[in-house]
Amino acid sequence: MKTLSPHREVQRIRHELRIRNLTVKSVQSVGPGFLSVTLKGPELAGFTSLSFDDHVKVMLADSAGDTVRRDYTPRHYNAQAQELTIEFAVHDGGFASDWAKNAKAGDEVVIGGPRGSMVIPTEYDWHMLIGDETALPAISRRIEELATDAQIMVIAKINSQEDIRLFDGKTNLSVLWVYDYPSLINEVKEMILPEGEGYIWSAGEAATMATIKRYLVGEKDVDPKKLSVASYWKQGESDFHERL
Ligand SMILES: Cc1cc2nc3c(=O)[nH]c(=O)nc-3n(C[C@H](O)[C@H](O)[C@H](O)COP(=O)(O)OP(=O)(O)OC[C@H]3O[C@@H](n4cnc5c(N)ncnc54)[C@H](O)[C@@H]3O)c2cc1C
Repeated sequence: MKTLSPHREVQRIRHELRIRNLTVKSVQSVGPGFLSVTLKGPELAGFTSLSFDDHVKVMLADSAGDTVRRDYTPRHYNAQAQELTIEFAVHDGGFASDWAKNAKAGDEVVIGGPRGSMVIPTEYDWHMLIGDETALPAISRRIEELATDAQIMVIAKINSQEDIRLFDGKTNLSVLWVYDYPSLINEVKEMILPEGEGYIWSAGEAATMATIKRYLVGEKDVDPKKLSVASYWKQGESDFHERL
């Protein structure tokens, strides 16, 4: 197996765990499937998120006063304004999703982390980003952070055409939208990987991600050093996270 050039090594960086008390500044809908919630507060000073793959724990109180913890991607951080935006993919029967649906300016929220960052270099010849709604905030952030002319391919599952989003300003970006998990898996199976050294990042529903990982490693012979697949949620379970 070839070794990666040093500037293409994934770096793992630990951060001191900080818990921050914040308030909701605003809530905006991003198509029918997503709510963009901007949090603010002086405790965001020093907030560090080095990778689109990072997550914070959003901590919410339930009616019994217990704390409910869920993982969310820091979608955008504005250090000057001390504002952090998180995009919630809304779904039925989720505590955090329901919280986002009812959130309003002034509501209190606690976040923890990120505790660490897996920094995937930007210097690859191409970048493949695969995922469902829960991964779309991370995918959107990655697209923004890559160079204007980076070769980026996206295969994303959303619930409806109204959730299609535009990514402006990239000259070498292709996006394939699908509307169910079998189609996501099929498109991954049918994709032709470009020449050169690329990185594949994939995240979303657990069973689909397991199938995608098996396929990429087993059938496509993708080097695991140039691949990250994570389960962001699992049917019937709460607060599930697994790196596959
Ligand atoms: C590293 C990481 C980053 C993440 N980033 C984001 C992000 O930026 N935005 C985002 O929206 N999500 C993100 N997720 C996924 C999110 O943490 C889960 O979807 C979480 O379970 C939602 O919490 P909840 O309280 O709404 O639902 P839960 O109470 O956890 O789950 C209730 C039920 O809903 C199901 N469920 C959970 N999520 C979904 C879903 N999306 N669609 C359909 N059914 C679901 C569960 O299987 C369960 O049966 C991320 C997860 C990880 C691990």
